[in-house]
Amino acid sequence: MQRRYRSALIFIITILTVCVTGFAAPQRSQQTVHAKATSFMHMSYRFSAGTSATTRGCYRWQGTTITYKITDSSAYYQQVWNSAVKHWNNANVVNLVAAKSGEKPDMTLATATTKKARSVSGDAVGLTYSSYHSSQKIDNLNVLVSTTSYIYKNVATQMKYSQLQREHVAEHELGHALGLEHATSKNSVMYYANKNKSITTSDIRGLNAMYN
Ligand SMILES: [Zn+2]
Repeated sequence: MQRRYRSALIFIITILTVCVTGFAAPQRSQQTVHAKATSFMHMSYRFSAGTSATTRGCYRWQGTTITYKITDSSAYYQQVWNSAVKHWNNANVVNLVAAKSGEKPDMTLATATTKKARSVSGDAVGLTYSSYHSSQKIDNLNVLVSTTSYIYKNVATQMKYSQLQREHVAEHELGHALGLEHATSKNSVMYYANKNKSITTSDIRGLNAMYN
């Protein structure tokens, strides 16, 4: 992203959006095993229908080409974040591209470990920090400067999230990094306690409304 503002005039605000683990819903039977070898190549990925609602957004990037860097070098979390990147790219609204080596990315896609994870529902499993220009807006949306998203590995493990569920958390956090807010409907990847939903048509409508 090109930035041409004089630093003295920039006033940047950072907010954080905490996303929690699913609340005490009865444990579903084990998810279908997500094949590692093939999940990287969803050739016929389809978005499932959301509600008629449009997932709301409040921030956006200046352009639709946005760079990212995945900081966790494990194959497992590279896969989790790459899957989320691929699925948002499949919506054909934004174009997420890996930052070149040494280049500062727009989005940082990370993992972290909380100091204290409890075995109860409602712990934060994901979190996104978003920094935006206070005075620069496009169509009433604040323009993002940088974002950092985390998946809390120990919480996800303690809550027995499958790899597929962690990919849904990654899609959710990436949705925040793109500027989407929480949706009230459970039929959205942006429901605040989502683990089982992937990106739906409601979410894509929301992204389209922000970027097109
Ligand atoms: Zn969230």
